Amino acid sequence: MDIKPLLRQFNLRPKKSLGQNFLVDEHALSNIVRAAEITPDDVVLEIGPGLGSLTLYLADAARQVIAVEIDHTLIPPLRSVLSARSNVAIVEGDILQLDPAELLAEASLRGGHRPTEQSPNQSDEIASHPSTAPQKDAAPLTPYPRSGGALGGMLAMTPNENYKVVANIPYYITSAIIRHLLEADVKPRTIVLTIQSEVAQRIIAQPDDMNLLAVSVQFYGVPRIVQRIPAEAFYPAPDVDSAVVRIDLPDQPRVRVKDVERFFKVAKAGFGQKRKQLHNSLAAGLPVKHEQIMQALSEVGIDPKRRAETLTLEEWGKLSDRLSG
Ligand code: SAM
Repeated sequence: MDIKPLLRQFNLRPKKSLGQNFLVDEHALSNIVRAAEITPDDVVLEIGPGLGSLTLYLADAARQVIAVEIDHTLIPPLRSVLSARSNVAIVEGDILQLDPAELLAEASLRGGHRPTEQSPNQSDEIASHPSTAPQKDAAPLTPYPRSGGALGGMLAMTPNENYKVVANIPYYITSAIIRHLLEADVKPRTIVLTIQSEVAQRIIAQPDDMNLLAVSVQFYGVPRIVQRIPAEAFYPAPDVDSAVVRIDLPDQPRVRVKDVERFFKVAKAGFGQKRKQLHNSLAAGLPVKHEQIMQALSEVGIDPKRRAETLTLEEWGKLSDRLSG
């Protein structure tokens, strides 16, 4: 697929404001799809299909692809690129405003057939969701599990076996997208994302070097970096190096806690004040008296002078359970 003539044909230029760096390296594209281990039973959600270079690969491997693109000017070229793929549903909208459960339910109503199973015809547009202005990366953690969603409730804790997310996402909303996927009522079994290398490194960090994103991702899943992608693999080349991170979600969060919402409130408070001792950050970020925080830390055997980045997931779990009363 040649991106530049396609952009010219539709009179388009990549939009920096929407993180439009199109992946053009065939080797990188096929490696991403291989890393996702997509089977013919899988439904894949792709966030930001752009001009469809990754979507083509996904459509060949999966039962169905739901491709959510915020930029309405990319929809006509995307439709043209995917015209021979009957198993792609193009959704115009902002992924952060859409519930994956509803996308999946809507797509499953339409069925999904790989091109080999059905005569090729135009890709399917299942919905058009007016996009709002892109959100910044600082959205607060939302409670889990949330209510609502077509498949919500029943499946709240168990990732959907045949639902995967594979995407080269806009870097400016990486954390927001990851949280949106992990906190959704219906969770994917596997997430494979091309993101900024530095952020990938932060996601896989271990105690002494943890941050809120690492705690959130590792609470729900097991992340690993599967590939590095140099800037030249994109058009236009981004200013940063990229990496592909794969997150596998087991049936249950990796730490058993009494109250997931509380767990994230405590962790968020702990990381709220950079380089402060834990007892101070917790006292500043939680509606709990300092003495009670000192008491809780002592009962679960955590030195109050430690810093948030040194705690293990299990320690956050014990602390939040103790602070849950
Ligand atoms: N997947 C394509 C590729 O690999 O060449 C494009 C990747 S580009 C890094 C990110 C894409 O995400 C762009 O097409 C951009 O318009 C789209 N995008 C940005 N913000 C979005 C959002 N909130 N929801 C859905 N798509 C978004």
